[in-house]
Amino acid sequence: DMVIAARDVTLTLGNGTAATAILKGIDLDIGRGTSVALLGPSGSGKSSLMAILSGLERASAGRVTVAGLDFGALDEDDLARARRGRIGIVLQAFHLLPTMTALENVAVPMELAGIADAFARAESELAAVGLAHRVHHYPTQLSGGEQQRVAIARALGPRPALVFADEPTGNLDATTGAAVMDLLFERRAAAGATLVIITHDPVLAARCDRVVELGDGRIVADRAA
Ligand code: ADP
Ligand code: ADP
Repeated sequence: DMVIAARDVTLTLGNGTAATAILKGIDLDIGRGTSVALLGPSGSGKSSLMAILSGLERASAGRVTVAGLDFGALDEDDLARARRGRIGIVLQAFHLLPTMTALENVAVPMELAGIADAFARAESELAAVGLAHRVHHYPTQLSGGEQQRVAIARALGPRPALVFADEPTGNLDATTGAAVMDLLFERRAAAGATLVIITHDPVLAARCDRVVELGDGRIVADRAA
């Protein structure tokens, strides 16, 4: 039961003599409920691969099936619609909407995904990440660790099949980062979601079921953590 099936995925940027191969034939299957650490040096293609698997960017060639969606068969609008509620994303730089409260940041995407009682559910999601007392705060009124906890609540609130995280603790100090990471693992386990996480942290990678390592646009290692 694969949540991710990628076949000979390539990404080429630019064209003609200026074309650069970023991803050079990625084959990757990830089973439901697995946690996978994506490792590799800077520039090896981790963020590009995550962008393609999360439907934010199109592959140049190959086949991508994620959470039951054949990305190649969907146009941009259908893809954007289909991703809602199925795929959650947590990025290094939080990306909360500054004009919305914590509660709205979590609830509005759920409403867009057609989920009933979005505000009530958002409130319990925020309580689950320890932010019951911060629901009406705006992002600028929250610490970095609190903002990232809102981002976790937002990503996992709709109970997505799949959550992507790109160095989610990259902007946090070690203690705050460890607490945020605990919450991410705890909430994703509660939601039964598959997790793909980009990290440079070997301790964090060891918490995952599997480690996939990229090098120069290719998978160079794939092992149990
Ligand atoms: P990561 O933290 O995922 O390893 P990097 O820190 O290498 O990513 O890159 C952060 C951002 O900078 C990414 O959006 C990436 O596309 C871009 N980037 C990475 N390498 C380069 C480069 N050599 N030149 C320009 N932009 C780059
Ligand atoms: P990683 O996440 O492993 O650091 P990235 O996926 O960010 O790697 O980048 C892989 C390669 O693609 C790098 O060489 C980077 O310079 C290049 N790259 C990424 N985004 C862009 C972009 N928008 N334009 C040009 N090159 C890019």
